[in-house]
Amino acid sequence: MIETELGEMRRTHYSDEITQSMDGSKVTVMGWILTVRGHGNICFATISDKNGELPIVAKKGSCPEDVREEISSLKPHSSVGLTGMVKSSEKAPRGFEIVPQELRVFSKVQKTPPFEPTAKTVKNIDTRLESRPIDLRRAPMRHIFNARSMVLQSVRNYFVQEQFIEINTPKIIATATEGGAALFSIFYYNKEAFLAQSPQLYKEQLAMSFEKVCEIAPIFRAESSRTNRHLSEAISIDLEEAFVDYGDVMDRIEQIITAAARAVSAYAKKHPDAEFSIPIVPEKIPRYTYQELVERMQKAGAKTEWGDDLYPSNLKKIGLEGFYFITDWPLAPKPFYVKESASDPKISESFDLMFGDLELSSGSTRVEKSEKLSQRLADKGLDPEKFGYHLGAFEYGVPPHAGCGIGLERLLMALTGTENIRDVTFYPRDVDRLAP
Ligand code: ATP
Ligand code: MG
Repeated sequence: MIETELGEMRRTHYSDEITQSMDGSKVTVMGWILTVRGHGNICFATISDKNGELPIVAKKGSCPEDVREEISSLKPHSSVGLTGMVKSSEKAPRGFEIVPQELRVFSKVQKTPPFEPTAKTVKNIDTRLESRPIDLRRAPMRHIFNARSMVLQSVRNYFVQEQFIEINTPKIIATATEGGAALFSIFYYNKEAFLAQSPQLYKEQLAMSFEKVCEIAPIFRAESSRTNRHLSEAISIDLEEAFVDYGDVMDRIEQIITAAARAVSAYAKKHPDAEFSIPIVPEKIPRYTYQELVERMQKAGAKTEWGDDLYPSNLKKIGLEGFYFITDWPLAPKPFYVKESASDPKISESFDLMFGDLELSSGSTRVEKSEKLSQRLADKGLDPEKFGYHLGAFEYGVPPHAGCGIGLERLLMALTGTENIRDVTFYPRDVDRLAP
């Protein structure tokens, strides 16, 4: 069989646009071979495209002989274009099949793939990640990443509707945003620079002028532990808004999560074979204070004290499920830009959005007063000189403001019921993986 060029051939329909009622219509479809089964004078094949699958039935006498032979000799993953007739068939799962008339093979496959393209699961995730482009051709992966795209659209729609300005902030930066250790350092000409662990300081500065800003972009974290919820490069949905506090931001998160869950539900309704486990988003997501949960944990026998982080194992002990906020965290461990509570300086105006024991977002009201910010930096032992540009901006009327960062991959894990963050990331990066 000879490979051919695309030439003049063009697709007339995607797989999901063809229906039984088109019986007798001529269509041209494009995609790749998912399955081929030959039975003497009849050959059954499936062509897959980005939207789904199409059944091809090449029977002796009803299609050109050379086309039938060519189809039956194809291996999965071969890239093809096919012109044929839609034939209504009660036996076919979607009520029709396609009888081929012309076949073009653009790239044929000689190799046996490392796993079946029809496999619902493949045991070893590394086997899949090593062959990621072909892994992403499997239907379960296609569903996850199509849903991811719908989630992003719904979030962007929300930002547009609420008049947020979409920003882009530098990812190559000179100093640590929050003074943390989780930074990647890089060579920048003849200097050391870092990859941004969050857009925090830039988005606060941009809220000075644009008031409502959002960014959907990578964040980089040198997370040395191997978990199913941490990546070295993740996508953060960030928002920052002037003249509001953390309560208003939690209201926005409620709306964003609701819109995103609706998008996933709508996708799942159209694609029932996408086996997502979609959670219910309560109209009002429960808000528990940190203090309240520490007390509940202590009652449940957990060894935890006020000031400790709330560990997943302890959250499990008090049986919190679904979406909820933990608010009013102790101030001490929070970054310097987080504002203290007006009623108690030990507490901060902050929250985490949780899904079970998975953190999806952190947010807070931010410090807006110049002296307070310098003092908080000093308290944290950070060098104010390194934050000169940022502190400089605060001498020019920074408004009260608040914001949050939502991890896109974590959100997708929650909305689809995916256990491993790598499964909702095109090309995951972690301690052990820098390729492909
Ligand atoms: P965690 O405690 O789970 O490590 P964090 O508190 O360090 O997260 P934040 O700095 O609060 O993370 O970042 C805001 C959000 O960004 C998190 O709630 C999470 O959804 C996402 N996020 C942060 N770090 C990562 C990471 N390494 N991989 C994937 N998502 C991340
Ligand atoms: Mg956090």
